Amino acid sequence: SKDAGGGVFHAYEPQLHVEAEERRVLEIALRSALKNDQFHLQYQPVVEAGSGALKGFEALLRWTHPEYGNIPPSKFVPLAEDARLIAPIGEWVLRTACHEAARWNDSTRIAVNVSPEQLHNPNFFNLVTQTLAQSGLHPDRLELEVTESVFMHEGTCAVQVLDKLIDLGIRLSLDDFGTGYSSLGYLSRTRFSTIKIDRSFVQGASKNEREAVAIIRAVVALAQSLGMGTTAEGVETEEEHQMIQQLGCTKVQGYYFGRPLPVGEARALAQRHGRD
Ligand code: C2E
Ligand code: CA
Ligand code: CA
Ligand code: CA
Repeated sequence: SKDAGGGVFHAYEPQLHVEAEERRVLEIALRSALKNDQFHLQYQPVVEAGSGALKGFEALLRWTHPEYGNIPPSKFVPLAEDARLIAPIGEWVLRTACHEAARWNDSTRIAVNVSPEQLHNPNFFNLVTQTLAQSGLHPDRLELEVTESVFMHEGTCAVQVLDKLIDLGIRLSLDDFGTGYSSLGYLSRTRFSTIKIDRSFVQGASKNEREAVAIIRAVVALAQSLGMGTTAEGVETEEEHQMIQQLGCTKVQGYYFGRPLPVGEARALAQRHGRD
């Protein structure tokens, strides 16, 4: 045919079509996922580097569709953000995490991921105060994880909202540090308690990549000088744990210490081990 040897365009078009179609189908499914009760949370342990003592959990969203099965958040969270569905979904995550964690050992902290669009909503502060009041969770047990992208839009109220939340006693951590594009200015203007070092640096350092080691060292030093802690993400082996500990990270999270757990298992772990 005319298309014989027709090259790149025709070779890729069907794939693009499949991806667009998949997005469209997923977006429609996502629109009814909340009311059909298809979400649940899993909780991944966060431990102190060195001792391995349990400090808290990160709540991670899971979506099980009756037909398509488990869809990973790396696929549906960006879609929810684009389709402006993340606000109601994020609200459900916050409410569920606070209500579930309020029934555990009082010393474990619970970290919840917050998308930029949620923080740019002027109602977010009220949502948090209301959720704390309704669940009975003490504010110092709640940590919110935000990424650098929150600070990319000028003229937004995110910084003020974060400030008011910190005044309530909530902690703030800076997620996926070093993977986005932004200046360091906001680090000194926002009172983070923890910088989370992305798994890509941990992996690089464990392969003895000098750049990755240098970056972790620099981030740890920066955090220390600003009075913040550091959590290394995605620690999978004893060797990685030792390296991270030597580099001075204060906390670790990763499959080596525990995978994300169903709520019942997380509660049982929280009852057995307190934060202190
Ligand atoms: P994240 O916030 O960086 O969460 C950490 C991710 O790393 C989780 O993936 C976790 O399961 C995975 N992980 C933890 N330890 C290891 C390890 O040792 N090795 C490897 N290979 N992976 C590890 P998950 O649950 O698939 O979530 C992916 C991303 O989806 C999250 O990355 C976060 O950006 C987003 N996400 C998840 N839940 C929520 C949510 O409730 N709200 C929002 N806005 N985003 C969420
Ligand atoms: Ca996170
Ligand atoms: Ca992260
Ligand atoms: Ca990440």
